[in-house]
Amino acid sequence: MAASDSPLSVLLEDPERSALMSDVDGTLCRIVDRPDQARVPVRARESLEILADSLALVACITGRPSPVARKMVGAEKITYFGNHGLSYIKPGQDRPTVVIEGEEAERARNFIREHDNPFWVTSKIRIEDKGPIQALHWRGAGNRTEAVVRGIADHAQSAGLATHWGRKVLELRPPGMEGKAGAVDELLDGIEIDTVVFAGDDRTDLEAALRLRKLAEEGQLKNLMIVAIDSSEGPPELVEMADLVVAEPEEWIDLIEDLAARASEAAAGATRPE
Ligand SMILES: [Mg+2]
Repeated sequence: MAASDSPLSVLLEDPERSALMSDVDGTLCRIVDRPDQARVPVRARESLEILADSLALVACITGRPSPVARKMVGAEKITYFGNHGLSYIKPGQDRPTVVIEGEEAERARNFIREHDNPFWVTSKIRIEDKGPIQALHWRGAGNRTEAVVRGIADHAQSAGLATHWGRKVLELRPPGMEGKAGAVDELLDGIEIDTVVFAGDDRTDLEAALRLRKLAEEGQLKNLMIVAIDSSEGPPELVEMADLVVAEPEEWIDLIEDLAARASEAAAGATRPE
């Protein structure tokens, strides 16, 4: 029997009804200036793989496309929910399953197609095509550009799109897309889960955490632990509502690694002859 002094050991009490969910950037790895250079430590991958053998669900929920997240984290046995809840890729799948399809998926792209003009380029607005989500970046541009982006946001809203603000980025999304909160719903749909541990560092993670808290309050989850990775850039609300706050990704990975060791011990104990 594993000792109960690990904060995450609640997951091993009834592992077949337990889920571990983690953000990637800023949670399983440090944020770096160039996102393509972010690296998830090998010990994180190995620990997630071990836990995937014990727990009902291990998932990464990220703003990156799900295949990119899988390549980055490297664990084959876990589920990846990508682009803030837009598509997921399960163990053994080659291609992601897209949650929003058809006309809805094209709405933001169509808006950009109809309204993009050379003035956006001279204002230093860069468009990132994330499929159903279209992101307008203006890092490096001034206040005047921000005013232009605000104008675009108003326009997009009157065209029926949802707007989501990040750090020097505006995302245009189809209406009804619930980001990571929607990802959490989708992940828990159709499986019996009583216990969830969720970790994240950013505003989108707060949305997921609030959804999980609501499910716990409604009695749909028996145990919920929200882990916040503290950072000066993250929303203070996430740290305030969290059950556990760690200072950096390495500390969160320490906890996962410790839990994986306990899961291995428990599995060895279960198969050891009397
Ligand atoms: Mg993050």
